[in-house]
Amino acid sequence: MRKYVIMGVQGSGKSTQAVTLAAGLDLTHISVGDIFRWNVQNHTKMGAQVRRVMAAGELVGDDLAEKVTAQRLAEHDWNYGFVIDGFPRNRRQAEFFLESYDIDGVVHLDLPDEEVRRRVLARRLCSSCGMDYNLLAARPRDEGVCDVCGGTLVTREDDTEEALAVRLRDYHSKTDPVLELFRRKEYVVAVDARPGKEEVQRQIRARLNLPSFA
Ligand SMILES: [Zn+2]
Repeated sequence: MRKYVIMGVQGSGKSTQAVTLAAGLDLTHISVGDIFRWNVQNHTKMGAQVRRVMAAGELVGDDLAEKVTAQRLAEHDWNYGFVIDGFPRNRRQAEFFLESYDIDGVVHLDLPDEEVRRRVLARRLCSSCGMDYNLLAARPRDEGVCDVCGGTLVTREDDTEEALAVRLRDYHSKTDPVLELFRRKEYVVAVDARPGKEEVQRQIRARLNLPSFA
């Protein structure tokens, strides 16, 4: 059984890499962000709480992240192991996580803040159908217009310079100590998140001594 943690700032391609790694190794992908999004879409009580926090440009609280992760891991449907993304979020959770699970490695997708800013501020969303665009990588055919439904493209309400600066500060103040703890235990492999996604996946597998990514 293999258990990996994947860490990286938003815009680092963390989810994409986690999904690809999990699929290739038959592991279960556990995404705290996906669990939150499901709750928002299904209008649960937790979803309302999450929506309020995100509208303020902040990260969802650590206690809530811990609760959903504990619930998810307790389902024990991860026979061959898991790739977890979005957890642990602070030192205390990291210590607890290390005591509870015999992890095989922590992947740190490294992306400079300046590149995060460039990627995140290029995101657009269709105001009618919700389709995602990115002016760097997935441009619409006509500027400002959705390819699928012709709707108007808008910026997400939490993708402003100010909200992003808050998120980056929050991210570093919480994540840097977690990474430091994992580094001291020699679990961390750092991978440059700037190349294309296939190259990043190849690097991840090479650094974890896994079969190579075709
Ligand atoms: Zn649309």
